[in-house]
Amino acid sequence: MIWNVELLVAVYMSKTSVKTTVEWKDIPWRKLERVVFKLQKRIYKASQRGDVRTEHRLQKTLMKSWAAKCLAVRRVTQDNQGKNTAGVDGIKSLTPVQRLSLVNNLELNDKVKPTRRVWIPKPGTEEKRPLGIPTMNDRALQALVKMALEPEWEARFEPNSYGFRPGRSCHDAIEAIFSAIRYKAKYVLDADIAKCFDRINHEALLRKLNTFPTLRRQIKVWLKSGVMDGKQLFTTDVSEAARSAGTPQGGVISPLLANIALHGMEERIKQVADTLPGRKKENRKALSLIRYADDFVILHEDITVVQKCQGIISEWLCDMGLELKPSKTRLCHTLNKYGDSEPGFNFLGFNVKQHPVGKYQSGRRPNGELLGFKTIISPSKEKMKVHFDRVASIIESHNSAPQVALVRNLNAVVRGWANYYSTVVSKDAYSHLDHLMYQKLLAWAKRRHHKKSMEWVVNKYWQTVGGDNWVFANRQEGENPLLLLKHSATKIERHVKVKGEASPYDGNLVYWSTRMGRHPEVSTRVATLLKRQTGKCAHCELFFKCGDTWEVDHEVPRAMGGKDTYDNLQMLHRHCHDVKSAGDARRIREWKAENERVKAEAKAEIERQRAANLIVKREQRIKEREEKRHQAEWDKHEIQRQMLDEVGWRIYAEYFGLASPVGGTHEKSQVIEEPCEVKVSSTVLKTSGSREGIA
Ligand SMILES: [Zn+2]
Repeated sequence: MIWNVELLVAVYMSKTSVKTTVEWKDIPWRKLERVVFKLQKRIYKASQRGDVRTEHRLQKTLMKSWAAKCLAVRRVTQDNQGKNTAGVDGIKSLTPVQRLSLVNNLELNDKVKPTRRVWIPKPGTEEKRPLGIPTMNDRALQALVKMALEPEWEARFEPNSYGFRPGRSCHDAIEAIFSAIRYKAKYVLDADIAKCFDRINHEALLRKLNTFPTLRRQIKVWLKSGVMDGKQLFTTDVSEAARSAGTPQGGVISPLLANIALHGMEERIKQVADTLPGRKKENRKALSLIRYADDFVILHEDITVVQKCQGIISEWLCDMGLELKPSKTRLCHTLNKYGDSEPGFNFLGFNVKQHPVGKYQSGRRPNGELLGFKTIISPSKEKMKVHFDRVASIIESHNSAPQVALVRNLNAVVRGWANYYSTVVSKDAYSHLDHLMYQKLLAWAKRRHHKKSMEWVVNKYWQTVGGDNWVFANRQEGENPLLLLKHSATKIERHVKVKGEASPYDGNLVYWSTRMGRHPEVSTRVATLLKRQTGKCAHCELFFKCGDTWEVDHEVPRAMGGKDTYDNLQMLHRHCHDVKSAGDARRIREWKAENERVKAEAKAEIERQRAANLIVKREQRIKEREEKRHQAEWDKHEIQRQMLDEVGWRIYAEYFGLASPVGGTHEKSQVIEEPCEVKVSSTVLKTSGSREGIA
């Protein structure tokens, strides 16, 4: 097999795709990843230089390489969250053999089956949105194309676009807004692009893509088949909850295409800045456009500039076949009232607002000048309500469930939400939510025991833990009770914004893997493990890259008695976890069989013991019975024994065949003498007793 693998490596190095008999699990993934990442870095560099010819050549090489095809297939079959959603072909998951045949058949072609539509509920509303699910073949092909296109465009994308890009998140966008307004109150255009991406100008997008003909044809077909249809283009719902619910993704490539379509907005705005009087560099810095997917803000201290920008952006979008959503477009000021608009705005679930403060609380400009206001970013009221409604519905649905189940379900929701907002001013929001949750829980507990006193109920469900008298926790589990997390227990830590134009394709693996561990939504557990593993997967030992999916694994499976402690935990890629779980399944089976065997043996041993005991007992019983019979016989002749002398008794005993009752093996002399001597007094007493009885 080793020979086979070496051959394979040689084969794909020579850029020829060849059908071989290698097995899926024997594919040298580490090597494949390195080869592909190296190509991607070269595409990124070529794109930075503006060397289009090299760029296209490398992209073609990448898309033809067996390595990239394997990785693309693995991405859609093993890494994708929607991996269990069937496409129009009704295929959900593939066996390893099918995966390999998919790899071998993966070619750019113009024949694409229409995407299958499923309607998924929009979180928090009754509305449903359509989601196009392409076929398995299409999904893999899209992943392949994305691998080639993403590095090219990552080199070009603007520094203040944050949505659906590797290594960037909402928190970076929020930090960018904070830096734009921290020393100056500004006017804001808070806008949303109407999500009518089905009306996007295909020609304009393809022109912008400016790629080689085969790829252009392929993307054209996808656009026609509806890869960009409906409203699924950007799943802007970024909450942990929605993600963990396993919302299937639409086309793998559609967010990238949408980002390409919207690329250039920031530069267009900067051009406006150049027309303003004053120093060019400062003007550019003072006017900013910060975009997350289809949601963006324009910030400047002069209202006329902002209004001018709005007009220019509308025009710019019009060329792309898009427009601003009037209901969600709003002009306001960060500090003062503007017209009917209250100060401040909401962005990605955060509320950004400046408050006037006195000289003691005010911050200062770098030159020492007083600002007179404070910038506060906090969770938005709407998102708080959505979150609390969710908490309330969980509590209600657990009316008759045990406390432990309720705590588990609540913890997952509370942790995710609190982590998302842990980079901003959230303390007040957290305590408010904790208070509301407490009231809801009190009602929950009271309803379960309406005949008991409040004190009794509180004592049953709340405990004192570490000085806090109001910890909702169960008492049964003794030493380690399951505690309900409090929002306010989340540590607030400022998020460090991603470096200007840095991209994961720049090859600075250490920067990116360290950054990953500091992401606010990465749990403490994951962050600790990442640090311990120095940013590498414990299975394949490659650095976790942005966009990789990972899972926490129990080194010794729980089913084999593995503990939920750090020394038994490790972080793995999702696909590596798949491999490990398969091995684990076998280990668990063997372990169980072994366990069964040991148990059966122990049981047999006990049976044997019991049988042996039974025999001993029976023998004992027989012996006892025998002794009793002897004693009875002896007793029957007691009076005779007392009346006869020694010689007479011996004759008598011999005649009746009597022996001593105890043991029956004593010598006759002993038999006679001992009991006689001992029994003298008792005999006398007995005789007198019997005489009295007779008298
Ligand atoms: Zn791995």
